[in-house]
Amino acid sequence: MDQLNNFLSPPAAPRDFGFFVDGKWQSGHDFFVRHSPGHGVAVTRTAKCSVDDLNAAVAAARRAFEDRRWSGLPGGSRASVLLRVAEILRTRRDELAYWETLENGKPIAQARGEIDHCIACFEVGAGAARLLHGDSFNSLGDGLFGMVLREPIGVVGLITPWNFPFLILCERVPFILASGCTMVVKPSEVTSATTLILAEVLAEAGLPDGVYNVITGSGRTIGQAMSEHPDIDMLSFTGSTAVGRSCVHAAADSNFKKLGLELGGKNPIIVFADSDLEDAADGAAFGISFNTGQCCVSSSRLIVERSVAREFEALLAEKMKRIRVGDPLDETTQVGAITTEAQNTTILDYIAKGKTEGAELVTGGTAIDLGRGQYIAPTLFSGVSREMAIARDEIFGPVLCSMTFDTVEQAVELANDTVYGLAASVWTKNIDKALTVTRRVRAGRFWVNTMMAGGPEMPLGGFKQSGWGREAGMYGVEEYTQVKSVHVEIGKRTHWIS
Ligand code: NAD
Repeated sequence: MDQLNNFLSPPAAPRDFGFFVDGKWQSGHDFFVRHSPGHGVAVTRTAKCSVDDLNAAVAAARRAFEDRRWSGLPGGSRASVLLRVAEILRTRRDELAYWETLENGKPIAQARGEIDHCIACFEVGAGAARLLHGDSFNSLGDGLFGMVLREPIGVVGLITPWNFPFLILCERVPFILASGCTMVVKPSEVTSATTLILAEVLAEAGLPDGVYNVITGSGRTIGQAMSEHPDIDMLSFTGSTAVGRSCVHAAADSNFKKLGLELGGKNPIIVFADSDLEDAADGAAFGISFNTGQCCVSSSRLIVERSVAREFEALLAEKMKRIRVGDPLDETTQVGAITTEAQNTTILDYIAKGKTEGAELVTGGTAIDLGRGQYIAPTLFSGVSREMAIARDEIFGPVLCSMTFDTVEQAVELANDTVYGLAASVWTKNIDKALTVTRRVRAGRFWVNTMMAGGPEMPLGGFKQSGWGREAGMYGVEEYTQVKSVHVEIGKRTHWIS
């Protein structure tokens, strides 16, 4: 790949990608052409795979699983491959960040930070491969010994969304590989490039053929066929709650495959009057604007103590106005483009709805014209009531709704008034309030006086309609295993037939 300086403009022509089955690149017959949301120019062409291509990939993953070419290795050997992946990713960091930025529209500096997180995922996955273990029962009496084995679940289907194409991939792949499973991955049709580049990296690191396969295609054909596939043992799906629900139906109607579901969120940020308001305002601005609010864990509901609400909103609005929205390839950009035209329309429609529902627009609320691409200003609505659509629906954009509370009870009740339970944060210097809120709000990820902090050691996942199961860390590896109870008789059997 060229030097970093050549990365800072879109490519002269779109890059072509094949798809990857059984360790070999295949070419497509028909293609998706992806235009950079920040520049409006064609940047990649990826194959529109068929269901036959998918079946071939599942068969390859099945063969690779059944002959134990991967699961039969010692955990230490699997760990060595994962550590080599981390090393190669380090050398290809700028290239990966470049394609991620072009397809997704996120700022290049942010994309590089995400690749660093992905490298850490492979390092943690390597540790997990060595540490994965079962259990034993030495308590069943002198005549019986019990062991609990953890075995890889088999062939995993992995479906990922467009908001963090590489990061979400890497919060799963090392842990699936650590467990000994094989897989077929289907990235979002608009952001497939880095998932395909990972195939090159894994092969170079020594992953056996057939263990990691990539099929590119639409959700309606390939995604649906994966969730119905009788030979996929587990499906890890990350995306919208609506499609997650269809995966549940498809699994029930096919082979009862195990599901890991990471779905939507409408995440509260609770700000008490006794917090450091400057810190909390910075956290709130970051929480709704990072990745243009297209994060499952974006803090989109501000629940602020009434006595400081006006002061806090003013502080927050002033910070939001200073966020640098711009060309994703510009090193100084903090917030880039909206990833798809459809999402851009959805966000602008919600902003219009907020105004007609009677919420007060404090800042933002408009598209930003940079001459090319699609951009929206970080937006704050005040005086929002809980029935409004902007307070209830996951907008998946930089739109923050502010509501007020007077007591801890009210704050907790408002925070829990959603079908989702993905993430939450609380800002206070009072330890009792911090712990009470942390324990009572139903969410899979919680931040106290910080926002979106963490690493791949910690599990990820949601309560309620935000999903099932956990990804990353030891919890994540265990999701991709089955538990087998083994009973061993010691000594002479007591006979049933006398
Ligand atoms: P989406 O549900 O439209 O698509 C996600 C993936 O599913 C894509 O690869 C898509 O092609 C595929 N898909 C679409 N229809 C399918 C079907 N019928 N069967 C199987 N697969 C299908 O979501 P999106 O628009 O790409 O992403 C945004 C959503 O993802 C938001 O709701 C967001 O909250 C959620 N998300 C959740 C997490 C999390 O960790 N909880 C992370 C990122 C995104």
